Amino acid sequence: MQKYRLKKIIVTLFISIMFSNFLNVNFNVRAEITPPTGIILFIGDGMGFQHIELARLVEYGPNGESAILSFPYQNDIATVNIDGMTTDSAASGTAISTGVKTRNGRIAMNYNGKIELTTILEIAQDNGYATGIVATCHLTHATPAVFMAHNPSRNNYLEIAEDIFNTGLDVLLGGGSSASYLGNYISAMEINGYNYITNKTELNCSDTEPLLGLFSSSSLTPVHLKNQTNSEPSLLTMTQKAIELLNNTGKPFFLMVEGSQIDWGSHDNDPIYTALETIEFEKSVNYAKDLAENDSNLLLLVTADHETGGLTVEEYDFLTPLPLDTDNFETKKNKRLDRVGEITTSWSTGGHTSKNVILTGMGPNSERILNATHHINTFSIMRELIDGETDPFETNTTKGHVNLFVIIFLGILGVSAVIGGLSAWKHTKKSI
Ligand SMILES: [Zn+2]
Repeated sequence: MQKYRLKKIIVTLFISIMFSNFLNVNFNVRAEITPPTGIILFIGDGMGFQHIELARLVEYGPNGESAILSFPYQNDIATVNIDGMTTDSAASGTAISTGVKTRNGRIAMNYNGKIELTTILEIAQDNGYATGIVATCHLTHATPAVFMAHNPSRNNYLEIAEDIFNTGLDVLLGGGSSASYLGNYISAMEINGYNYITNKTELNCSDTEPLLGLFSSSSLTPVHLKNQTNSEPSLLTMTQKAIELLNNTGKPFFLMVEGSQIDWGSHDNDPIYTALETIEFEKSVNYAKDLAENDSNLLLLVTADHETGGLTVEEYDFLTPLPLDTDNFETKKNKRLDRVGEITTSWSTGGHTSKNVILTGMGPNSERILNATHHINTFSIMRELIDGETDPFETNTTKGHVNLFVIIFLGILGVSAVIGGLSAWKHTKKSI
């Protein structure tokens, strides 16, 4: 009798697994999705809440408002990697770009570096989107790389460059023209139709895509070290051009904009470097916010991959005036430097911290920000808008663990085989 009951359980379990898979397939057939105008994802590398506050105080004063803090939906989210430890830009970027937590150093690959994880940019491409990346570091650096490449190590710049070449984006703006980064692929990309440019004058004149703009052999000059004659475009100028060209394609688009060097200023515990990079980032967010206010079909998300430096704004006493839009380059820069000097800051580390970071934004699906708890939810918000799904693209690779139902099923099969074998053995023994 017991044997029959066991058989019945196994058969029922098998049928229910098959049926649930069948249901899954059916659920995947969804109503046609109306594509958005575009998705613009801003990532301030290393930008904690206090970084935003530092920039706000310098640029707008104690009563002024930062565009980053002015969106209808805002949340603070965790950044920890798959081991629950402080993340680097590769692991946190991968969580944002693929919805999967991984180990530090991985570029859109799972924890053991064996499985390539499909990125939101690749999903967007597969759904007919135009795509772009803008950053102030070299484009083979971790944060831009996690959207365009797959590699077990963030340091394999040449392999990452090859992936970037093969991904075939519509707009690529940043640094990295040396042979150590993207340099070996520039002529091949030109043969493939890219318009290749190297300075802000050429950028201003560019009106066709695909566009490859590499404005420095490595990363771009930090904002606080620039002068008026610098030939590199600002993050704001690159953001404006990228949106313009992606819009011109007539397709929905995905664009990631990174304020790459907020992190580097914070590693240096340098309030001037940090503040001026964050201000530049905020100006770019503010530009996109204006667009989103006039286009309810444009999703805008602003986040940070992690906090760097354990920054705290301790106190301030302002005696110098606010920078004005009408100020020339040098005046504006000097006013900002003066005001940073009137703020007392403290730092707890020269590295990254596990402090929560901001997730904010506006536009279609942005209300889901309120339920977000980790970077992986940022991926879900974007993916849902593209193809109606919220899970990572790969099934059963989420944490590299085997599906629980499969384990139970195989376990029961194993136990029943043992019982069956034992009873057959007893039976044989009896007959002898
Ligand atoms: Zn860092």
